[in-house]
Amino acid sequence: MNLMWLRRDLRIDDNPALIAALQSGPTQALFIATPEQWQQHDMAPIQVDFIERHLNLLAEQLAKYGIPLTVLTVPNYASCTIALKEFCHTQQISQIFANQEVELNECIRDRQILAAGLNLTLYEADVIVPKGTVKTGKGDMFHVFTPFRNAWVKQLQQHSIKTSSHPSEVLTHYQSIRAEKIVLEATKKSSEKWPLVSDIKKHVMPEFLQTKHADYKQYRDFPALKGTSGVSPYLAIGALSSKMLASQVLQHVPFILDNAKADIFCWLNELAWRDFYKHLLFAYPNLIKGITFSEKYSNLNWPNSNEYFIAWCEGRTGYPLVDAAMRQLRQTGWMHNRLRMVVASFLTKHLLVDWRLGEQFFMQHLIDGDFSANNGGWQWAAGTGCDAQPYFRIFNPITQSEKFDPDGSFIRKYLPELSNVPVKYIHLPHSYLAATGQSECYWPAIVEHSQARQIALAFYKQQLGAP
Ligand code: FAD
Repeated sequence: MNLMWLRRDLRIDDNPALIAALQSGPTQALFIATPEQWQQHDMAPIQVDFIERHLNLLAEQLAKYGIPLTVLTVPNYASCTIALKEFCHTQQISQIFANQEVELNECIRDRQILAAGLNLTLYEADVIVPKGTVKTGKGDMFHVFTPFRNAWVKQLQQHSIKTSSHPSEVLTHYQSIRAEKIVLEATKKSSEKWPLVSDIKKHVMPEFLQTKHADYKQYRDFPALKGTSGVSPYLAIGALSSKMLASQVLQHVPFILDNAKADIFCWLNELAWRDFYKHLLFAYPNLIKGITFSEKYSNLNWPNSNEYFIAWCEGRTGYPLVDAAMRQLRQTGWMHNRLRMVVASFLTKHLLVDWRLGEQFFMQHLIDGDFSANNGGWQWAAGTGCDAQPYFRIFNPITQSEKFDPDGSFIRKYLPELSNVPVKYIHLPHSYLAATGQSECYWPAIVEHSQARQIALAFYKQQLGAP
């Protein structure tokens, strides 16, 4: 008997480990819940709930093909070896198939399992272009995105995308079984507002490709519009395959790889960013230990005001776009990409709080929490990461608000206390509120923008010992 060990690959299609297991013989599936480890990794309760819902979907899909899915619960990764050993013994399993996870603790867990003599084979299912194959002329990992992306495109031009078969293509005889209900014993928060991936595949992605993909570049930065795909939660738990998405884009726009600067390439470019950060973590596994990518930033002595940090977390900075974004995160478990950049810049540059605290807060709340993308995004914002821009890019939260939420509709949605403020004042409402006797209804600005900007520049210069 074979075992398909499901991890962050909660899907039946384009799942290379599952197909390899099925091709090799009768298979059953297993998921190991590790609540203590998840907590240690700051996994958001909304993501745990989302995983539970997708496990139930997957259990039904697998049951159709006669594959039972069992869920074991152990505290942490260290306990996985014994649990797997026992399970393999009682179920007479001789081979374990799984898809690789790139994060350090996950790699250590897999090494321990191999060292214990279990027959585990790993496949790759989390990227479009294989990790470790997009390299500079000298054979190193790229440190900047654009040349990585160009080499990534070349690879896609040379080797067409091959997704794995569907179980229906490899299984000739099977008998359906009944799926048992799965309940994860861990802290959860309802993710019901996010449909199951079956809905995304059937309705959301086809509609996105037909009606929104071509205009993505034009609308993607406006948080009040639904200009982006919204697929990140599904990619983060592996319910969707990024390779499958890329393959659909290539079918939809066959010439798309001809010009990476064309507007139509813009969405695929985001999937390339996702790959970039996964390749980066693969090349530099210690990023997970909180190190700065750029070594010269490793010893910044952040002031880390707890008062500022809490105000940022709670959406009380007095900058409407920042506060509305933080409320979006807390209420929905998701935040628009433009706002992630704005709030991350605000925390690190305006408030001089260590990016690692923001990174952790994001993980604790995001339904799409993914270490590589989150760490990459935070280090990009703090200026400590893989970025062609130096530290002195500081987003102005007021002009960002004027540009990307021009009529204030996003702000009004999450800050109802400002719903009556005229457009002219919505981006920084304090003078209007004072003049109309409503100062009490909103927070004063926590710092003054131009002053905070000067302080940030001085901080970075002094800490880096720059002239
Ligand atoms: P779309 O705009 O439709 O893009 C399609 C897909 O491309 C996304 O689903 C995502 O998988 C990928 N993608 C898009 N932008 C990026 C990017 N900048 N970096 C890496 N991949 C990208 N994304 C996560 O999936 N998990 C995180 O934990 C995460 N944390 C972030 C933290 C910060 C500070 C920043 C600046 C960005 C972060 N991102 C993260 C990236 C990005 O904000 C989200 O992927 C995006 O907002 C998801 O919305 P969407 O699916 O509608 O994206």
